[in-house]
Parts: sequence; C-alpha cells; structure tokens
Amino acid sequence: MSGWRRYKFGPESGAVRCPHGCRLCCLDTEMPLTQTDVLRLVGLGYALEEFAEFRGGLLRLKNVGGRCVFLDEEGRCRVYPVRPTGCRAYPVVVDAGSGECVLDELCPAANTIEPEEFAEWCRLAREVVSLAIRG
Ligand code: SF4
Repeated sequence: MSGWRRYKFGPESGAVRCPHGCRLCCLDTEMPLTQTDVLRLVGLGYALEEFAEFRGGLLRLKNVGGRCVFLDEEGRCRVYPVRPTGCRAYPVVVDAGSGECVLDELCPAANTIEPEEFAEWCRLAREVVSLAIRG
C-alpha cells in the first residue's frame, strides 16, 4: 500500500503498518495496565511508580510532557518487546458504550488491519477491559 510501511519500534515488532513518524497512540496515553503488564515491566527493573498511576479509576501508563513515559526521544518504545497488552491490541479497542471491538479512528493505520489481526487484537483488547487493575 503506497505511503505506508511497516514501522518497527523494536526487535519484536508486530504487524501494524504505521506511517513513518506517527506516534499518536503513545501521546497522552490513557493505556490501562493489567497485573501481567505490571509484572513484565517491573521485571525489566522499573519501579511501579515510575511508569504507572491511577487515573479515572484504573491503573494506567504515566505520561511525561504529554508522552508515554516509555516513548524515547526518537519516538521508539523503550519496552516494545514487553509493551502492555493494550498497546499490542491497538488500534483495536473496546467501545465503552457498545462493548464491541472497534478500530480507533485516531489511528491513521487502522484501515491496514487484516480481519485475522482484528480478531486477535480484539481478544487482547477484551483482556485489558476485564483484567485492568482498578483502584
Ligand atoms: S508502552 Fe510503548 S507502545 Fe505503549 S504507549 Fe508507551 S511507548 Fe507506546
């Protein structure tokens, strides 16, 4: 598809065909975290309070200067191989009203998602909804 390419954040990059330079999904992130997400990130040596805080009743990734705490200066995810489940599911999200999986219209690569990818990422997005840490 012209104008799109696979943009690799890291060595285990997934299949999202992100447009070069786009990090919209990592800006002002509201990504909720599950216990598994937290354990993976703590396992890298990060302290919980470095990367997570409660907002809106859920434990979520922190932002620093309007960017996810894990987004580096070059726009790469510092924790890509162990990024949170919701980051793996994106741009598939669960619509809060209907409970259905939908593509986030904010994502300019959303129209590149294949049906089998949608199904798998919907499963992950639903996992985040059911297992997000509440407080
Ligand atoms: S953890 Fe990585 S992929 Fe997820 S919002 Fe932060 S920088 Fe982006």
